[in-house]
Parts: sequence; structure tokens; C-alpha cells
Amino acid sequence: MENLKDAFYDTFEEAGANENLTSYALIAAGILFVIWFILKYSERSKMSLPWKSEKVDISTLGRSSWMLLHTTAAKYPVHPDGNVQKQMNDYLHLFAQFYPCRECSDHMTTYMHQNPPKTQGRDALQYWISKLHNDVNAKLGKKQYDLSDISKVNKRWGADEGICKKGCNAT
Ligand SMILES: Cc1cc2nc3c(=O)[nH]c(=O)nc-3n(C[C@H](O)[C@H](O)[C@H](O)COP(=O)(O)OP(=O)(O)OC[C@H]3O[C@@H](n4cnc5c(N)ncnc54)[C@H](O)[C@@H]3O)c2cc1C
Repeated sequence: MENLKDAFYDTFEEAGANENLTSYALIAAGILFVIWFILKYSERSKMSLPWKSEKVDISTLGRSSWMLLHTTAAKYPVHPDGNVQKQMNDYLHLFAQFYPCRECSDHMTTYMHQNPPKTQGRDALQYWISKLHNDVNAKLGKKQYDLSDISKVNKRWGADEGICKKGCNAT
């Protein structure tokens, strides 16, 4: 009789323990889901892990890169000294060398060989980059961008504007 009672209580406690285990597992799964949800959708995770949320293709990369190049030219000194001119020349060569699209990198490198960068001043640099851009446009069958007034091109790429949000010291 005593053994039967023990057996009954053992079974009863085991069932209770199993119930507890199920509850803990559900709570843990809930916590994991909330963490996953926050990481997937929070602004912070999007900003710190862009490659997880934004697809990079040749066009997106191209548009962003042209923005960088044209904006850099629009902010380049009007009268840079010799050292700055050399640094810009090196920068453009390195930019082409490490551009993460083989076809585009080869195109820019070949273009630079035949048309060395003009780094004497803002207008000259913007004109050189815009001619390179037009060369790529021609290759892709796109229309030529009007370069008859280079100050307009500089203006379009923010020469007269600050680009930083509050708290950033750059112009
Ligand atoms: C160095 C480099 C080489 C590339 N080579 C290739 C390649 O070999 N094959 C390929 O498929 N893609 C290449 N790309 C990408 C390609 O040039 C485009 O960026 C892409 O096709 C998207 O084009 P888009 O029509 O959105 O405008 P984009 O050509 O990216 O131009 C963006 C904006 O710049 C302005 N703009 C256009 N032309 C000029 C200009 N001449 N001067 C000033 N502003 C201008 C316009 O307002 C335009 O909306 C290259 C990009 C770079 C940076």
C-alpha cells in the first residue's frame, strides 16, 4: 500500500516538474523572440548592420559612389596647394583600385591612364569626374550630362551647402 502511495506521488511530482519545464521553455522562447524582433527591426541594428538589411548591387553602389565623388569635388578647395593636389590624385587612383566592382574598377583605371586626373582646383576636378561619369554613361547607353557650366554641376552636388546634421563640425 505504502509503495503504491509513493508511486502515485512520484508520478504526480514528475508531472509537475514537466509542467514547470514546459513553462520555462515557453518563457525562454518568448524572450528569444523579443530579442530577435528588436534586433531585426530596431533602427540601431539597421544602422550597425547595413549589409543585413540593404541589398548592394552595381547600380546602388554606382549612385552612392558618384555622389561621393561629385560631392568631394564640390567641396574640394578652389586653390589647393601642391600637396593637396597630389593627395587627391593618389586618392582617385586608390579609389579606382579598390572599387568593389571589377568591371567598373577596370573602366576607371583605363580612363585614368588615358586621361590623368585634373586636381588643380575645384572646377577642374569636378569637370574631370563628370567627364569620367559621362564616359560611363556613354558605355551604358545613357544620355550625356550637360557640362557646359561646371559651376552648375558643383551647385547640384552641394558646393554651397553644408551637408552635416546638427553636431557635425564638417562643412
Ligand atoms: C567609377 C564607376 C564606374 C562604373 N562603371 C560601371 C560599369 O562599367 N558598368 C555598369 O553597369 N555600371 C557602372 N557604374 C555604375 C553606373 O555608372 C551608375 O551609377 C548606375 O548604372 C546607376 O545609374 P543611375 O541612372 O541611377 O545614375 P548615375 O549614373 O549613378 O548618376 C547619379 C546622378 O548623377 C547625375 N549625373 C549623371 N551623369 C553625370 C555627370 N556626367 N556629371 C555629373 N553628374 C551626373 C544625375 O543627376 C544622376 O541622377 C560605375 C560607377 C562608378 C562610380
